[in-house]
Amino acid sequence: MNPNKGYRDPARVKAVLDKIYEIADRPVTLMEVCGTHTMAIFRHGIRKLLPANVKLISGPGCPVCVTSHKAVDEAVAIALEPNVIFTTFGDMMRVPGSRISLAQAKASGADVRIVYSPLEAVTLAQSNPDKEVVFFAIGFETTSPTIAASVLTAEELAVNNFSILGYLKTIPNALRVLLSSEEVKIDGLICPGHVSAVIGSEPYEFVAREFGIPAVIAGFEPLDILQSIYMILWQLKANLAKVEIQYRRGVPKEGNLHAMEVLRQVFEPADEYWRGLGIIPGTGLRLKDAYQKFNAKVKFNVEVPDQPEPKGCRCGEVLRGAITPLECPLFAKVCTPEKPVGACMVSVEGTCAAYYKYGR
Ligand code: SF4
Repeated sequence: MNPNKGYRDPARVKAVLDKIYEIADRPVTLMEVCGTHTMAIFRHGIRKLLPANVKLISGPGCPVCVTSHKAVDEAVAIALEPNVIFTTFGDMMRVPGSRISLAQAKASGADVRIVYSPLEAVTLAQSNPDKEVVFFAIGFETTSPTIAASVLTAEELAVNNFSILGYLKTIPNALRVLLSSEEVKIDGLICPGHVSAVIGSEPYEFVAREFGIPAVIAGFEPLDILQSIYMILWQLKANLAKVEIQYRRGVPKEGNLHAMEVLRQVFEPADEYWRGLGIIPGTGLRLKDAYQKFNAKVKFNVEVPDQPEPKGCRCGEVLRGAITPLECPLFAKVCTPEKPVGACMVSVEGTCAAYYKYGR
């Protein structure tokens, strides 16, 4: 039996929608931070169900989309080194670098393999002691603890031919940058369920405290998302600004303490570049000194130059919620999922991919 079935029940969905229509008495713009929410919102046609004065915009919560060209270029450079098995989650394969993607590197002879967990890469390293196995570590707090665990496993088993090319990011400070900007006025945040299952609700408290707007941590079923929107509208109507958890079945207030502990054991905060947002202090995760031997950047000493974004691609503005993909002149003409110009069209969580599939 599908435990989420009740969260798609048409009668319950309609009841919440009725409440939303009752309470939506002014124009509001809400940002869904997370790419998984963006896809769910499009897949279930939620934007079309909402009153015209409740506008949803998408945020920067797709890890593939906010990864720089430079990161892809480094990955390609390492993958093309002799004796390397380069492993990655499938989503990164087709992301264009400034010259080629990992998929194209593979086509030209590099040993690039898709894995479903970084621990698979450790196992691969164990069974290929004469090779260097590198894992492309892209993700937010959701995936970072597993990547930290893979480093600890490699350390414990002395798998010294394993390393990570790390571009991990943490969400909360990126939200601070978005909310501080005057580019887009955001009245409330629909916060990511998966990231919050790890970090809990406390890291979002600044949203209410510093910016005076509501933030609700939402699940991914239609009823979850609609309930979260209703909770935000209710707070706005009552002139409240607080952090609430709608997704209680997945998110404890304190998060996952064990996962956070593993994360802190291996990584420390560092400044990190986000496509569309620039360098944001403290939003990256750097391997601690004790684990630097697992740092592929150090091991391979690759230096690739910074590259501008592809000509005409407006991914940055899409990721800041400043425009929709429909406003990008390349959308669906030059840029399609088959021939993507920017990462936002490649990723299964990308806003441009969501608009292409459901929103044209
Ligand atoms: Fe970039 Fe393509 Fe999106 Fe335009 S449609 S912003 S080119 S990814």
